[in-house]
Amino acid sequence: MNVDQSEIAKFSALAHRWWDPNSEFKPLHAINPLRLNWIKSFVNLEGTKVVDIGCGGGILAESISQSGADTTGIDLSEKALKVAELHALEVGADLTYRSISAEELAEEQPGQYDVVTCMEMLEHVPDPMSVVSACAKLCKPGGTLFFSTLNRNPKSYLFAIIGAEYVLKLLPKGTHEYAKFIKPSELVAFTRSAGLEMIGIKGLSYNPLNQVYSLSDDVTVNYMIAVRK
Ligand code: SAH
Repeated sequence: MNVDQSEIAKFSALAHRWWDPNSEFKPLHAINPLRLNWIKSFVNLEGTKVVDIGCGGGILAESISQSGADTTGIDLSEKALKVAELHALEVGADLTYRSISAEELAEEQPGQYDVVTCMEMLEHVPDPMSVVSACAKLCKPGGTLFFSTLNRNPKSYLFAIIGAEYVLKLLPKGTHEYAKFIKPSELVAFTRSAGLEMIGIKGLSYNPLNQVYSLSDDVTVNYMIAVRK
């Protein structure tokens, strides 16, 4: 299976803090409204069928569900999924969480989803191309997919590892492995070979001075792409 168990263990160990906005997951809370709005600038989520791959504690999946989509979140961390389910119960969100890989779900439900999201996950798997193809397979023809990850260059090493893990201590040391970062050209090549066409790309920039994230055209560190099947 296309999974690194040490990555799953890392997320499972922190899972109970997933919804604490001041925890290790603070950056995900901070970027969530930005990425959700970016998704909504391409698709009206109301009434659509969405799957969120590598949903973790459900920050993105739950907000997609609250935007009116019939939403499924999948992950391989049982602990993170439990936290996601509990939080959905707490806030009265109605969505489905499942412990299954993207590849297996794609075998089970090919072409079933209008929208597929896969954020901050590809840099944690051994074979990101395999996840991208599974996402493509899950999507209906004409559907939209969104991927986000970390670019690979000296600046992203400095910001995402040295800055975030060692200087600002936004993330625990060892959260990210530089060699697994993915350049936009590589991600776009993966999507193209999965038969997808790029329709948008956006950077997510962090200003350490005012601690604010914003959408930008600077894709050198965190970035997202939108693609259509
Ligand atoms: N997508 C969420 C969580 C990102 S954290 C968000 O952006 O808010 C990365 C998540 O990927 C973790 O929950 C981790 O358990 C999950 N993950 C890592 N490898 C995976 C794999 N092979 N299959 C499914 N999920 C995986």
